[in-house]
Amino acid sequence: MPAMHDVEHDANEMLPALRDAFGAHVRANEPLARHGTFGVGGPADAWITVASEADLLRLVRLAQRHTWPLLLIGNGTNALFSDAGARGIVARMDIEEWHIAAEDENSALLVAGAGVNLPKLVNDLAARGLSGLEWGAGVPGTIGGAVVSNAGAHGACVADTIQTARVLFADAAETGETGETGETAAEATVRELPAAELDLTYRRSRFREQREITFDDAGRPMPPPRGPLEPPRMIAGATFRLRRDDPDAIHARVRKYRQHRKETQPPQPSAGSVFKNPPGDYSGRLIEAAGLKGARIGQAQISPRHANFIVNTGGATSADVVALIALARRTVHERFGVALELEVELRGDW
Ligand SMILES: Cc1cc2nc3c(=O)[nH]c(=O)nc-3n(C[C@H](O)[C@H](O)[C@H](O)COP(=O)(O)OP(=O)(O)OC[C@H]3O[C@@H](n4cnc5c(N)ncnc54)[C@H](O)[C@@H]3O)c2cc1C
Repeated sequence: MPAMHDVEHDANEMLPALRDAFGAHVRANEPLARHGTFGVGGPADAWITVASEADLLRLVRLAQRHTWPLLLIGNGTNALFSDAGARGIVARMDIEEWHIAAEDENSALLVAGAGVNLPKLVNDLAARGLSGLEWGAGVPGTIGGAVVSNAGAHGACVADTIQTARVLFADAAETGETGETGETAAEATVRELPAAELDLTYRRSRFREQREITFDDAGRPMPPPRGPLEPPRMIAGATFRLRRDDPDAIHARVRKYRQHRKETQPPQPSAGSVFKNPPGDYSGRLIEAAGLKGARIGQAQISPRHANFIVNTGGATSADVVALIALARRTVHERFGVALELEVELRGDW
């Protein structure tokens, strides 16, 4: 697999500098297995949580200045972290504030930080009689992660209600503007983009453009080399247009969606659907028809309940998961001529 980008950095110099800037929030050699729902992944040299837009900017600028690799993640529910972990910094998006900015009889404008937990938000909005995101009741990610993949379920998705996203551009020169605090080119800056500029389609957005994964002949995923800043565009928050509805009716929909998941999805650790559905078909159906339901490699298994889920049965490695991904992709391709695309993102140093 391609090597990570070749910028050298020195963890011995990075950790004290990060602690100077961010204090006790910084941890060394943090196992990424703790921060993703697959429960796999080696250590990050430095781990930090970012609780405000100002801190996100500060962190990005510091990393840029020192050429420290920086990876931003949310709840790690759509990510497969490498057994090698990640050199440099892994930051968890933790901007958790949200509020209703404007409302009238029929609708309301939600302003949410990128670290807001989607299922919890859905509950809070239901109690306030605000509808539009209840499909996210069983999508355990953050608002930022949901925008990245235009997450969706039950026939709805982010694109249906999102109005704008606050996006960090690594280089102010790219935006053709100076930053909000007056800084000039070459400094990271945040800009609010309208939904039309986010390129949201089925499980895609402009934020995933540079994450295209290719596959070798054996079906093994080949992640692109790491860039210094991942993703190069980071989401700090987003706004959504919601409509008013009866709280009981919203709660009833949420309960129905949760129940459906309980019945159809495996209880073991996973990152949800591994592959996107190909046009007009379902990846789960194809993998099952290829005879792979229940297949195991190491401690990873193609779920006997839902063949598009790979589960960690206890002590799996990311190598086990990747081997199952390769087996499923190769077999489905050989049997049905369908080239499955990954929904899950491979993160860290592969
Ligand atoms: C049990 C289960 C069920 C699921 N069901 C569904 C479903 O029905 N529909 C669906 O769409 N998904 C589903 N998922 C997948 C997942 O929950 C969603 O994709 C979710 O939106 C990911 O959010 P996250 O915060 O966990 O992102 P992460 O997994 O942390 O990150 C995903 C990617 O986004 C990037 N990223 C994260 N935050 C930011 C940010 N603020 N700015 C820029 N980039 C960022 C990361 O670098 C990474 O590349 C499911 C997952 C599980 C475990």
